[in-house]
Amino acid sequence: MAVATHAPAPAQAPAGELSGAEVAALYKAHLSRGRGKLGEMFGGHVEVSSAGSRVRTADGREFLNAGGYGVFLTGACHPRVVAAVERQIRTLPLSTRLLLEPSAARAAEALAGVCPEGLERVHFTGSGAEAVETALKLARSLGHRRVVATRGGYHGKTLGALSVTGKPLYQDPFLPLLPLVSHVAYGDLGALAAELGPDGSDAVVVLEPVQGEAGVVIPPDGYLGAVSELCRATGALFVLDEIQTGMGRLGAWWGADREGVSPDILLSGKSLGGGVMPVAAAVATPRVFAAFDRDPFIHTSTFSAAPVAMAAVEAAIAVIRDEDLTGRAAALGRVLLGRLADAVAGHCAHLVREVRGVGLLIGVEFHDAGAAGEFLLELLERRVVVNHSLNAHAVVRFTPPAVLTDAEADELSEAVEGAARALGRRFPPADHTTRSC
Ligand code: PLP
Repeated sequence: MAVATHAPAPAQAPAGELSGAEVAALYKAHLSRGRGKLGEMFGGHVEVSSAGSRVRTADGREFLNAGGYGVFLTGACHPRVVAAVERQIRTLPLSTRLLLEPSAARAAEALAGVCPEGLERVHFTGSGAEAVETALKLARSLGHRRVVATRGGYHGKTLGALSVTGKPLYQDPFLPLLPLVSHVAYGDLGALAAELGPDGSDAVVVLEPVQGEAGVVIPPDGYLGAVSELCRATGALFVLDEIQTGMGRLGAWWGADREGVSPDILLSGKSLGGGVMPVAAAVATPRVFAAFDRDPFIHTSTFSAAPVAMAAVEAAIAVIRDEDLTGRAAALGRVLLGRLADAVAGHCAHLVREVRGVGLLIGVEFHDAGAAGEFLLELLERRVVVNHSLNAHAVVRFTPPAVLTDAEADELSEAVEGAARALGRRFPPADHTTRSC
């Protein structure tokens, strides 16, 4: 395994930080009571700085960040991304939006340059869900009003995106959502074909190359290519949501590349901002983008393509290319997947249904959500941050940065081994009832 070159230490916390109890109290008073309580349940740690694979807390502890919901492929605060953003902040952080502005032009060119062939037009947004909204509106502009998505798929929580996110838990309190949306089993081409019917010219298919929040669900080989073919044959539009899987996460620029697929619209987000800026994008073919080409005011947002975010996008793409982080993600992913599987097999196999992953998107599926929560807490105690999966609470997700050094990969593996051992001891095979997390 090659040694990554980038492992700066996070800065010391500035003096006068609030204590964990004070931060939790402010969360409860002004952000969300539930979020404040959750933070306390996870130990009340307060993160104050980050760099590379590390997050530092107010009390001086350092955590290895193998979570962050997939945002940190380039690690946090990559020096080249920070330098680009700093330069932009000092010169033109936001634009007039009337004049032309170069950072947006450069970022769009860079992003189109790494996308599958044919994807040339870019609309930047502030969040992944807005990129999904953009795709749904582009589809409607061409008459594709029927949406076929997949069960368990996650596409965000604005009203349009939530209509496509196949999870009643998040949808039910906000009904009614968009009409004409259906969900079929992920990975099942026959189910998709049956739902589309012979004429899909009124439909748009929206799915992920690997379902992230559904708990790292990997489709059968050839699925993406076959979906793409089916869309072409029936006239349906194909939107590939790579907000979590793209930008190198799967060991290639895009999941699409792994099957040589070129969708009508590709969505990017999370790692697109280089671990520094919140930004996402919908990238489309000129044919699909025609409505936005004709009328640049038909779909706008004040902060779309904000120069500070654009500087981060251009730098992030350069970093991933120059440091071969796609190759690193593939190699590191293979090693970590093997070590995770070994740790689980050796210490708590009876609690785990499966360990699976592609590149640096790895999931450990437990038999129940309680055990998954306990595993997450055990890892936190060993100073490793991971995530549960929003649409599958029994799956713990590892999305470490591709800049993880070999020493950090060893550290992560040791923590996983320790957590698995502790879990196996606390919940031996005869009695594996866990408290719910
Ligand atoms: N699409 C996918 C595949 C995602 O994983 C996510 C977020 O996890 C989204 C869309 C929504 O992105 P955001 O949370 O930035 O709105």
